Amino acid sequence: MFCQSLCARAQRSNLLNAPRINDTLRPMPKSHFSHVTTWVFDLDNTLYPPHMRLFDQIEVRMTAYVMQALKVDRARADYLRGHYWRTHGTTLAGLMREHSVDPAPYLMEVHDIDFTVLSPDPDLRSAITALPGRKIVYTNGCAPYAENVLAARGLNGLFDAVYGVEHADFHPKPDAAAFDTVFTKDGVLPTSAAMFEDDPRNLAVPHALGMRTVHVAEAPLAQTHIHHHTADLTSFLRAIT
Ligand SMILES: [Mg+2]
Repeated sequence: MFCQSLCARAQRSNLLNAPRINDTLRPMPKSHFSHVTTWVFDLDNTLYPPHMRLFDQIEVRMTAYVMQALKVDRARADYLRGHYWRTHGTTLAGLMREHSVDPAPYLMEVHDIDFTVLSPDPDLRSAITALPGRKIVYTNGCAPYAENVLAARGLNGLFDAVYGVEHADFHPKPDAAAFDTVFTKDGVLPTSAAMFEDDPRNLAVPHALGMRTVHVAEAPLAQTHIHHHTADLTSFLRAIT
């Protein structure tokens, strides 16, 4: 209920774009995270670096799925994959809303990829282990896929819960309803939580809910809903614990 009212407020207000002290890219003293008891991590391109190019494989399979499901050629399918990602949050959300595509076979098919491009990261594992409190993964992929990624990165068994799009009734981040469903399910109190994400769109609602937001990406972005940026998640976590 608490989360629902917060999300509703975020949706109808201008909080996401409201002028405020620009704390973007400020340094990262430990004190900014001393209140955090729940640590929420995105998966793709957050818990593994983009240069491992795992998501490229998924995009190829998404395009193939769109070709087959909508009976379009590769160029049109490639366009629609990106178009739905931009307008609906994910390609799947666009396929479901505009074409009533069944999510289960789609998720199985697009995530049937080669995980050997990922390497274990014991340093990241120890940095996450050192965080005090509850640690969860929340991805727009599905949870079985997330478990495969975590295993390939040597991060399995580390998180208290792993949530996929199926846990949000197939509503994707950045939708407020998706965060609301997952955070309510887990009991996340946003004002005591931090969110780590590579997609800046997915930090807007968390910021509006009162979470501390960390953009994990090569290049920083000056956006008011991003509290911190890092290109090196392990070093960042070590600096705040
Ligand atoms: Mg991601």
